[in-house]
Amino acid sequence: MIQLIRGFKDILPGESELWQYIEKTAVDLFQSFRYNEIRIPIMEKTALFARSIGETTDIVEKEMYTLEDRKKDLLTLRPEATASIVRSYIQHKMYATDPVQKFYMIGPMFRRERPQKGRYRQFYQIDAEIFGVASPLADVELIVLLNTLMERLNVTDVEVHVNSLGCPECRPAYKEALTTLLNGVSDKLCANCVRRKDKNPLRVLDCKVPACQDAMEDPPALIDHLCDACSDHFNTVTGWLDRLKIPYTVNKRLVRGLDYYTRTAFEIQTGALGAQSAVAGGGRYDGLVSALGGPDQPAIGFAIGFDRLAEIVGQSDADYRKPLPLFIAALGATARDKAFDWCLSLGRLGIGCEMEYAEKSLKSQMKKANRLNAQSVLIVGDAEIENGEAVLRNMASKTQQSVPLENLIENVAKAINERS
Ligand code: AMP
Repeated sequence: MIQLIRGFKDILPGESELWQYIEKTAVDLFQSFRYNEIRIPIMEKTALFARSIGETTDIVEKEMYTLEDRKKDLLTLRPEATASIVRSYIQHKMYATDPVQKFYMIGPMFRRERPQKGRYRQFYQIDAEIFGVASPLADVELIVLLNTLMERLNVTDVEVHVNSLGCPECRPAYKEALTTLLNGVSDKLCANCVRRKDKNPLRVLDCKVPACQDAMEDPPALIDHLCDACSDHFNTVTGWLDRLKIPYTVNKRLVRGLDYYTRTAFEIQTGALGAQSAVAGGGRYDGLVSALGGPDQPAIGFAIGFDRLAEIVGQSDADYRKPLPLFIAALGATARDKAFDWCLSLGRLGIGCEMEYAEKSLKSQMKKANRLNAQSVLIVGDAEIENGEAVLRNMASKTQQSVPLENLIENVAKAINERS
């Protein structure tokens, strides 16, 4: 038997209801904050990701699913959404109508990471981006959105982490100082960090290899070396978080895995997922739009790991698993034909109804109705058809009532609507 690809997974009925619930909650929230949905392709030219995410990042160095098509073009399955959204913003000149644009998108991403709990090769992200707003208020808005979504989904064991990654004014001097320091301890660093310390020394700060963490117990933090403009920006963000009473931690080691970030970087972390503690991450990327050939427009965004979020939502089944309003237990071919007709009519009216397609005993059909968590069962056999009345059983109260077959749909719909 052919099995699915390692690191990929099916989201089966039973779990997909929760996914739909999360998706609906997120979409409702985005829409009330006036974010518009953008749907981007699953595949892009490899150069887009290499140029935006950064040549020395884990994603570009070793995690992309890249293929050469028949014309020898290099194409890559998207490992994240921001690059494509930026490309789209530029390509369609969306900035010409209004540089300020707010987007959301939900969909699969692909990274060839080592699979483990909470880390997949195809995973889903819920993504939001604001273009054209340099003000730190955009940063605050996105953190508030994340926080509100967590509250609506009853996710409690989470913490907002924030940091600033500076800008092209203040980052180079800091990077240089960090590289000098790293050169002094390079015998203690992992092979990856040794290789990257000159080009991308910030990445060493969030390397998960314990030896790298230990090599510099108290590394100098970029946040202590910000220029005035970056410092003001950061203080405004944290000032607003204080004002809105959103608890947060300033995490000086938070650098994020992608190169395009500037200034504010943030993450939602949880203790509930073991090693994979990041539920969502985001930050400002003020230079990316122009770096990819667009106008000089600032931008900021976040991505939530949908798979990880689904594992920690505090909702109970009852919040998102809809019960079945009606099961029709039909006995005999004539009754079954009628039942099928009624099922179709009720379905068209938006009332969920199921029946047994094969010839089965009443006992077995009642068992099935129970298994499907039916709220009511309509029982109809030859005798009922002859009498012109069927029996409607309320499965919770175990009471029964007769329903005339004439205008049955209306009668049943009324009885069901009265229940709910
Ligand atoms: P990133 O795009 O790397 O900033 O990731 C944003 C969020 O996506 C993370 O906080 C995770 O929750 C989620 N995520 C990233 N990579 C994976 C993966 N391989 N499997 C599952 N979730 C992931």
